[in-house]
Amino acid sequence: MCTNITELEDFQTFITDILIRNKSILDQTTKLQDACTHLCRTISKAATTCGCITIDATKQQYTFSENTSLDQIKDLMSTHVNGKMCENCQELLEKELGRVLFYLGAISNTFNISLSEVLQKEKYRTEILGKYSLK
Ligand SMILES: [Zn+2]
Repeated sequence: MCTNITELEDFQTFITDILIRNKSILDQTTKLQDACTHLCRTISKAATTCGCITIDATKQQYTFSENTSLDQIKDLMSTHVNGKMCENCQELLEKELGRVLFYLGAISNTFNISLSEVLQKEKYRTEILGKYSLK
């Protein structure tokens, strides 16, 4: 865990050092939107162009008997993804995830927010609620 926090801090410092062209918050927010769009597109293309995965979206069941445990409900919910991404699609997805992280880091830097602290606070909030956070 500590290693990841240090890596995030190093990443934010790296972003500060190299970010010149997209210094404006308007550039950063629109670049983040663009990165999110490309991330979603990469997942779609893995299914529609490459075919290494299929996405079989069906209605999720949200009504359960009162005896159904949260663990059972978790198992009954679906990602709607079948198969495993091929190496090429996985690499593209990782690249797009990296771009999302980059612009999240840039926005965080602009407002002097530590991504490490954001991560810790989010984890803490989610741990308090546990499975009841319903994320
Ligand atoms: Zn693929």
